[in-house]
Amino acid sequence: MPERKIKTHDGEKKGRADVKSAIVWFRQDLRLADNPALAAAVDRGGPVICLFIEDFDEHGDWPPGAARRWWLHHSLAALDARLREKGNRLILRRGRAKAVLEQLLDETAADAVFWNRRYEPALVQRDRAVEAFLKQRISVVQNYNAALLYEPWTIQTKQGGPYQVFTPFWRACQQLPEPAAPAAEPQWIPRPVRYPASESLDALRLLPAIDWASGLREAWKPGENGACEQLRRFLAGPVDDYAQARDIPAQPGTSRLSPHLCHGEIGPRQIWRAVRKAMHKGREQDAWKFLSEVGWREFAHHLIYHFPHTPTQPLREQFRKFPWRRSARDLKAWQEGLTGYPIVDAGMRELWRTGWMHNRVRMIVASFLVKDLRISWLEGAKWFWDTLVDADLANNTLGWQWAGGCGADAAPYFRIFNPALQSRKFDGDETYIRRWIPELADAPSGTLHVPDPRKLSGSEGFLRASAREEKHNFRGAYPRPIVDHSEARDAALAAFSHVKG
Ligand code: FAD
Repeated sequence: MPERKIKTHDGEKKGRADVKSAIVWFRQDLRLADNPALAAAVDRGGPVICLFIEDFDEHGDWPPGAARRWWLHHSLAALDARLREKGNRLILRRGRAKAVLEQLLDETAADAVFWNRRYEPALVQRDRAVEAFLKQRISVVQNYNAALLYEPWTIQTKQGGPYQVFTPFWRACQQLPEPAAPAAEPQWIPRPVRYPASESLDALRLLPAIDWASGLREAWKPGENGACEQLRRFLAGPVDDYAQARDIPAQPGTSRLSPHLCHGEIGPRQIWRAVRKAMHKGREQDAWKFLSEVGWREFAHHLIYHFPHTPTQPLREQFRKFPWRRSARDLKAWQEGLTGYPIVDAGMRELWRTGWMHNRVRMIVASFLVKDLRISWLEGAKWFWDTLVDADLANNTLGWQWAGGCGADAAPYFRIFNPALQSRKFDGDETYIRRWIPELADAPSGTLHVPDPRKLSGSEGFLRASAREEKHNFRGAYPRPIVDHSEARDAALAAFSHVKG
């Protein structure tokens, strides 16, 4: 068999001249390690064309929002830098995936296309169509699992259907063999003799026209290296106290891996293996608790695959007739962190500034929107979609339907979070509130869990702030509450009676 020498950084490696180019179509798997599509292309021994296609029309109703586009820009730059370390580079194209791939096959005479699978309804459909089309043209069209520990069709109830409750789902997962070890990154990625043309990264216009992203830049380091650093930081300490600290939003008690997972800069097999290796004697419970949260991500993907209508429709059908309120004014106050409820506003401002919000606070702000304001969970899901750097259709749908009481394994609608009690319990010393609401930074301690006492109704008397607070009226420009929690609670329960049964 004729062989062609391929120059490498560490000497010369033989490549097979008889092997045509293979295309690796990168999507939400922007990493080199544990990337089976990339590994399969490299294993063929011929040149590899590393491609990213920007076509957000193919994402159906959920094209990536502004925060995710910001992240994607930097993640693509990081991926390109990593590919260059390995002797290759990233090719960027815009347009419909099928048309772009067809053109690239014409231009390069590549005879193989590899990618890693997605599970969102619009992308499943798109990928099926692309696969059928490519198979008419070339013989090697293969896809792999890089995003999940357990793909949705591998876990079934005894009756052969999908799960709708987390605990038995996760138990079923754990009865399977442990997830496979992650694959190492390729040492070298053979390049084509001539690269096909590529758009510049700036031409994809992923960055915002007006630069509002300074908070995102301060908070994050997108890319595979950033993901590995984040995992190392978490395993060096916080994991050992995860079960307790994960609920305290002022502490760095969680992994903050979600945007990296969302863009596939790290995969769950890598996380699983690293956590299992790092389990400390006596702290195993914390590590298992963390892995079970990764399990919620698996569950979310299981649900979205088996119930593809859920990004826009409640899983529990009776909630279709729930009498949601429409109030542009209240929705805006919630989005801008101006509801007058400090813990809610702190969360919404953290989101706006950093593109991320702590899980406990996500639950509090979501409950406030759907129960205190009685605005549909879908409005909340859309706002999160645009503002979260980790906006993930499966996790976001699960989170919002959980809060709205209308999803799988959801919090019952009649169980209504009291924001003041949540605030006392999880931000007892008000560190989180003061961090995100500068107007309240100098308020006397112990006064910030309740909304402005000048507006509170008698029924919340037991939460009433001190006379000192009333007298000094320290809240200045900070708004009075837009609703009274006890009245809102009663109204929510009354509305719920429409869908009960
Ligand atoms: P850790 O506590 O360190 O958990 C590790 C990983 O496990 C996370 O990165 C995430 O991938 C997964 N995970 C943890 N909790 C959950 C959960 N409840 N559901 C699904 N997966 C979970 N997560 C997203 O990734 N994208 C979203 O768009 C999203 N939207 C949400 C909306 C609402 C209303 C709610 C209540 C939750 C949402 N979540 C979402 C889940 C959760 O809040 C985030 O995954 C978590 O806060 C990310 O922080 P972390 O990486 O530090 O989490």
